[in-house]
Amino acid sequence: MSILSVVIPAYNEELNIALCTKALREILLQERIAYEIILVDDGSSDGTWEQIAKASEKDNHVCGIRFSRNFGKESAIFAGLSEAAGDCAAVMDCDLQHPPQTLIKMFRLWEEGYEVVEGVKSGRGRESVPHRIFSKLFYGIMSRETHVDMKDASDFKLLDRRAVDSILSMPERNMFFRATSFWVGFQSTQVLYDVQERQAGKTKWSYGGLTRYALNNIAAFSAAPLQIITILGFLSFIFSIILTVYSLIQYFTGHAVEGYTTIIIVLLFIGSAVMISLGLIGFYLEKIYTEVKQRPRYIVSETLQNGKSRRVGGRNDNFAV
Ligand code: UDP
Ligand code: MG
Repeated sequence: MSILSVVIPAYNEELNIALCTKALREILLQERIAYEIILVDDGSSDGTWEQIAKASEKDNHVCGIRFSRNFGKESAIFAGLSEAAGDCAAVMDCDLQHPPQTLIKMFRLWEEGYEVVEGVKSGRGRESVPHRIFSKLFYGIMSRETHVDMKDASDFKLLDRRAVDSILSMPERNMFFRATSFWVGFQSTQVLYDVQERQAGKTKWSYGGLTRYALNNIAAFSAAPLQIITILGFLSFIFSIILTVYSLIQYFTGHAVEGYTTIIIVLLFIGSAVMISLGLIGFYLEKIYTEVKQRPRYIVSETLQNGKSRRVGGRNDNFAV
């Protein structure tokens, strides 16, 4: 019988753990799907870990991994996937914005032979106008780089063991899970789902956080911004030719002193172009620096299964439905 691993990253979600595990348990039992639920506590400062402990006492298919601090959702997903022992693994949010019914649909598609089942948002839920504009811009860039339409992509996915293993074998630290699952290829399909309202608690994203997230992920997939520097260089080269011709004409017709304003403009323009370019190079340099350090993606402080500590890297053997 096939086993489904459900990976759930959780950061300050004390109110959602019980709701989420209960909803999943009910529907998975009803559908007679053998499962394990891997809850990854991403360094929460509230009672999330206690809630995970409770959930794992109630249901021995639930296990928990606790990070030593907040490492971010991508790391939590990676940790969950590396602990997953199922024949396929799904990733979903803790706040029930990803409907469990859709998970069942994904699992059935996997049974039909699809190896990557992507959850695609049929609407974008409630979002503010600036949020909408920036996410459009961000996904525009990402879609160009991955050559797939990422506009309504989400982290809600189901992956076959082969896809999971290929993602786990990637050495980079700055990983953008949402795009990586497209990148690995395999037989894939999509399932539309309606983004639900958050069950409880608040979203973890601030505007600053979202901007950083977008920039990091662009850097993880694309070196296009570095090409902007070359384009900028060409543009200012053309500009300088025009100005040289203009200045020479001025010189030979005897109007040479008038150039003051032009000089200021040119100086400022070149100056800012150089600064921006250096900044961009610095940004990528920093990314290379963090990759080269090869620090671990996350540090585990505690693990739980059946109320006991679970060996990290040791896989779950409680699969009975
Ligand atoms: N999350 C996480 N680490 C973080 C931020 C978020 O593990 O640093 C988890 C969070 O607990 C939730 C999921 O990622 O399960 C999605 O977060 P959220 O609902 O805040 O994002 P949104 O749905 O608003 O995009
Ligand atoms: Mg959410």
